[in-house]
Amino acid sequence: MYDYDLLVVGSANADLVIGVERRPAAGETVLGSDLAVHPGGKGANQAVAAARLGARTALLARVGDDAYGRLLLDAQRAAGVDTVGVLVGGAPTGVALITVDPSGDNSIVVSPGANGRLTPEDVRAAGSLFHASRVVSTQLEIPLETVVEVVRALGPDSRFVLNPSPPRPLPRQVLDACDPLIVNEHEARVILGGAAVGDRPEDWARLLLAKGPRSVVVTLGAEGALVASADGVARIAPVAVDAVDTTGAGDAFTAALAWRLGTGSPLTEAAGYAARVGALAVTRPGAQESFPTAAEVAAL
Ligand code: ADP
Repeated sequence: MYDYDLLVVGSANADLVIGVERRPAAGETVLGSDLAVHPGGKGANQAVAAARLGARTALLARVGDDAYGRLLLDAQRAAGVDTVGVLVGGAPTGVALITVDPSGDNSIVVSPGANGRLTPEDVRAAGSLFHASRVVSTQLEIPLETVVEVVRALGPDSRFVLNPSPPRPLPRQVLDACDPLIVNEHEARVILGGAAVGDRPEDWARLLLAKGPRSVVVTLGAEGALVASADGVARIAPVAVDAVDTTGAGDAFTAALAWRLGTGSPLTEAAGYAARVGALAVTRPGAQESFPTAAEVAAL
C-alpha cells in the first residue's frame, strides 16, 4: 500500500518577525523588538499540520545550506515529517522579513531563495515519493512549472489538492487535476480572472468548477467553508472559537482536508474535520506552533 498518507510539495521559509511602534516609511529607520524567528512557508506549514494530526507525511521542498535551512528541517523532524525529499543548497533558504505594529498590521518582504530553485527536474527525481503517496498537495510559493510537473508525476490513483496561494491564473492541466482546489475569496477572484463574479461564494464555487477542477472548497474564515462538486454545493458550518491569530489557518485546513480525503472520508466530512482544525489553529499565536493534535480536535 502507500508509505505516506500525504506528500506535500512546496515552500519552506524562515519568518523573521520584529515588532515595531510604527512601520518605517521610505528612507526611515525605526527601532523594534527583539527578533523572533519562526519556521514557516506554506509547504512546510502544511506538512507539520498533517504530521501533528497523525498523518504519515513527507515533504518535497528545497532549503539553503544555512542556519535557517537547518531550523526548518529540525521543525519538520520534530513534528514527525519524513524529510527524505527536502533538498539542500542552490540558494539561501527562503525568508520572510516581517514588521508588525501594535494594531497587528504588518509589512512583509519575501525572498523566495531556495523555494524558487525547486525545479521540475527535482520533481522528476522524486518520482518514488509520488508513487508512495495517497494524496499530494501543493501551493504556489514554488515555480509554476514545478507545479505543472507535480501534476504530471501523480500516480494513477493518487489525489491532488491545490491551494493556489499566492494566487495567479492557472493552466488547464493543473485546474483539471485538482480534487479539490481550495481557495479563499481573494484566491477565487484571481483564479476567475478578475471578472465581475459577485459576492456569493456559491457562485464563485460554481464558476471555479466550470474551469475544470473535480471539486472546489471555498474557505470563509470565521464563516466556515463551502464545498462544491458534481454532487452539488454544501456549506460547512463555522466552529465558534475566540480567534487570537489567524496565521496558518488556511494551511492547517488544507493539510487536514487532504489527509482526511486520503483516509477515505467524503469531501464534506473531510471539510468538516478541517474546519475544526482551522478553528483550533486560530486560537493560538503563530503558524506551525498553533497546529492541533488529533486528540485536541476530538476534544473540541
Ligand atoms: P486563509 O488563511 O487561506 O484565508 P481562512 O482564513 O478562510 O483561510 O481559514 C481557513 C479555515 O480555518 C476556515 O475555512 C475556517 O474553517 C477556519 N477558520 C479561520 N478563521 C476562523 C475563525 N476566526 N473562527 C473559526 N474558524 C476559523
